[in-house]
Amino acid sequence: MTARILVVDDVPANVKLLEARLVAEYFDVLTAGDGRAALAICENRPVDLVLLDIMMPDMDGFEVCERLKANSRTAHIPVVMVTALDQPSDRVRGLKAGADDFLTKPVNDLQLMSRVKSLVRLKNVSDELRLRAQTAHTIGLRELAQADRPDEPGNVLLVDGRASSQERLQRALKPIAEVAVISDPQAALFEAAENSFDLVIVNANFDDYDPLRLCSQLRSLERTRFIPILLVTEQGSEEMIVRALELGVTDYIMRPIDPNELVARSLTQIRRKHCNDQLRASVQHTIELAITDDLTGLHNRRYLDSHLKLLIDRASARGRPLSICITDIDRFKLVNDTYGHDAGDEVLREFAKRVRATVRGADLACRLGGEEFVIVMPDTTPEMATIVAERLRLMVEGRGFGISQGDTVLSVTASLGIATLRPGDDTPEALLKRADMALYQAKSNGRNRVVAAAA
Ligand code: GH3
Ligand code: MG
Ligand code: MG
Repeated sequence: MTARILVVDDVPANVKLLEARLVAEYFDVLTAGDGRAALAICENRPVDLVLLDIMMPDMDGFEVCERLKANSRTAHIPVVMVTALDQPSDRVRGLKAGADDFLTKPVNDLQLMSRVKSLVRLKNVSDELRLRAQTAHTIGLRELAQADRPDEPGNVLLVDGRASSQERLQRALKPIAEVAVISDPQAALFEAAENSFDLVIVNANFDDYDPLRLCSQLRSLERTRFIPILLVTEQGSEEMIVRALELGVTDYIMRPIDPNELVARSLTQIRRKHCNDQLRASVQHTIELAITDDLTGLHNRRYLDSHLKLLIDRASARGRPLSICITDIDRFKLVNDTYGHDAGDEVLREFAKRVRATVRGADLACRLGGEEFVIVMPDTTPEMATIVAERLRLMVEGRGFGISQGDTVLSVTASLGIATLRPGDDTPEALLKRADMALYQAKSNGRNRVVAAAA
């Protein structure tokens, strides 16, 4: 992970120290000796994270943070306040100023690296989201542009062996999350797998259970591997923390717990989870848009072209049959010419519905374009494909197609051509071509019929 980090401190020795440690981890480091310089750098150069000292002459860290967060060009940059350990009130002020996290002086390496990496990861994801939102906005897809949504409350699972701390942590998290509490770590794993949590907090305070076991199980289970984990440990349990971070635990916090710190860290993780979820949903949505036919909701030609090859390869490798059916509505031009293009569209939508109702889950139904559709049927012999095609033909012929124009019901028929995969070196193009020839036969034999290509 590479990122550009700005270190801001009025004491040059402090700057040098942090710079050296970050450079050793291959981060790209910028430095500033006062608040004004820091603001100027953030305005003019891409910065992924700011490590910000509080006590500085002229403009202190709180003010720098406030200004960064108030400026739309810099508001998205995560800020880590570097505070003195004995001043919890600084943390409250830092939170109010919009800080994303705290580090206490003297800064320990483990803390520095885990926090910096966690925030940089978060920023990478939200940068990507902002970029997509921008593109979506540019191409006029407003519904995708939601990267700057305000924080939604998170769903947190708290795994904690003791009633007293359960209550305290739950109270601290109340303003930012719905908290479900569970004492038994094994039951927690099922709970996490069955619900959609944004964060699991594991308090390492069990009498006879290794909390890292739960963390590792959460990481390996398909349904829980993306949920951030925050580990609560004893002061001085560095060894456990190193192992936890290696296992994929996202962040940690040491007892005695400062409620502000708990809130700040939980919020970072919840945001990250929400961002990730949104990103995944947007990828999914983009893919769906690209492979779906607008008018009918069936898959489009592009999807067929890429997927048919896979289905053919799989059938060939397993020595299974595969058949396809191309269907074309008869005299469809007449519908458009008589009732208009909108009525034609209504017929196409209804036709697609009947196609969908005919096929099994494993079949692939696509609109090739115009009034032509394709059904790909894995594990289907020509005889079975003929039965399916005949059923579709009857479904089209058997019931009229209503159009909104004056309660008109149209009689519609379709012709269908079938082809079956030839073992060996059959290609999607060749298979489609044979089905198309069979369709042509059906048309010239009088329409409203099924013709299967010779194997
Ligand atoms: P045949 O029985 O030989 O298939 O005759 P046909 O009239 O169905 O065939 P032809 O290919 O001549 O006409 C297809 C018509 O489908 C022409 C075109 O305007 C219309 N069409 C293609 N795409 C759409 C669409 O998305 N919506 C509507 N309403 N019509 C479409
Ligand atoms: Mg037609
Ligand atoms: Mg046609």
